[in-house]
Amino acid sequence: MKKVVKFGGSSLASARQFEKVGKIIRSDKHRVYVVPSAPGKRNDKDTKVTDMLYGAYALAKEGKDFSKELAAIHDRYKEIIDGLKLKVSLDEEFETIRKNFEAKAGENYAASRGEYLNGILMADYLGYEFIDAAKVIFFKEDGQFDSKKTQEELSAALKEAPKAVVPGFYGALPDGTVKTFSRGGSDITGSLVAKACKADVYENWTDVSGFMVADPRIIKHPKSIETITYRELRELAYMGAGVLHEEAIFPVRKEGIPINIRNTNAPDDEGTWIVESTCQKSKYVITGIAGKKGFCAINIEKDRMNSEVGFGRRVLQAFEENEISFEHMPSGIDTMTVFVHQSEFAEKEQRVLAAIHKYAQPDYIDLETDLALIAVVGRGMRATRGTAGRIFSALAHANVNVKMIDQGSSELNIIIGVKNEDFEDAIQAIYTIFVDTQI
Ligand code: ADP
Ligand code: ASP
Ligand code: MG
Repeated sequence: MKKVVKFGGSSLASARQFEKVGKIIRSDKHRVYVVPSAPGKRNDKDTKVTDMLYGAYALAKEGKDFSKELAAIHDRYKEIIDGLKLKVSLDEEFETIRKNFEAKAGENYAASRGEYLNGILMADYLGYEFIDAAKVIFFKEDGQFDSKKTQEELSAALKEAPKAVVPGFYGALPDGTVKTFSRGGSDITGSLVAKACKADVYENWTDVSGFMVADPRIIKHPKSIETITYRELRELAYMGAGVLHEEAIFPVRKEGIPINIRNTNAPDDEGTWIVESTCQKSKYVITGIAGKKGFCAINIEKDRMNSEVGFGRRVLQAFEENEISFEHMPSGIDTMTVFVHQSEFAEKEQRVLAAIHKYAQPDYIDLETDLALIAVVGRGMRATRGTAGRIFSALAHANVNVKMIDQGSSELNIIIGVKNEDFEDAIQAIYTIFVDTQI
């Protein structure tokens, strides 16, 4: 039996948090591979070490003095070293980092040092071997993740090390330059380590007792989800449920390795199990709700659009040429709406509109900005009638104007478009109707 355990930033933010983590690892001899993040926030006003590193490097890049900022980062680690009475010193490491910052080693290198240094401390604290992720996790020259080479090198390295710490978030390009995953990417590293060592379970330890039905920052004390499928989780993660990086399921999914989300601050809680499929019915018709703000809708009208062969393709060509991906595209007989990320669209707006006019000759185009998309996700929805109706009536009662509703063909999700300002009220209304009322 082998378990891979990944600990997020808040789980490792201080010596006290490290002690909790140490206790969790030592309480189960199967927890043999550990993937740490960089120290996160100790309280609401605190700054994550990763953000401190980006900040310090921004100064270095402009040739400005960054010694104060780097010293503040060093202090974060000293607090952990002193609090745990470790013998290890990071003085030399910080000297190397200073030199590399001066030599403009890049943002990726800078950000990666957070997990690298925390990995060194964690390995020392546990008496586990330290494996630098730059030696075992690889990207191709074009920046794409190199899964074949990673699998080969990582599994070979783990065979040699029965107990090891592999820092999260980064790997290396073919020339050895450090490259990071996107933010929150330590979750992906954990998943890769689990795949490479054929783990029985991938435990992802964070600061909540599992995946909740809705974001706890929007809904007070939401119910937690016992079991969720990979597909459901991907829908929710993509739509902003930030508990687990949306890419983190792919390495383990095909291997049949379940992910267990656990709470470092409440280690006895069972947390959430993420599995390929399950006969277990979810407690409610829906499994979860998530959403994101900041979308823009491009409404296109043209008489008899439906009978015009290739109309949709021509509209989408205008987006493709400008390298804008679309999120959703509901359509009617003479109308079609394309939802895009507002931030991506804003700078290319006029070019896209000109291209739509050129290729599709619509009668009318209208833009609607500051929209939010909400995904209501659940494997149980397929077998239940009236889900969309209940969502509509809940939103109507909450005085929320629904801009769009789109049911995925898998019947696993329903996407709802509302105004940014109605976002929280809409989530609350949907949560209440399915979870609190529970009919
Ligand atoms: P870590 O630093 O451990 O990787 P993250 O901050 O990435 O932790 O993810 C955990 C956070 O995700 C929680 O503290 C919570 O605020 C947020 N979150 C958003 N949506 C959900 C949800 N549906 N269930 C639980 N947590 C959620
Ligand atoms: N430390 C990185 C971040 O803040 C990666 C992670 O925490 O997973 O994004
Ligand atoms: Mg995270």
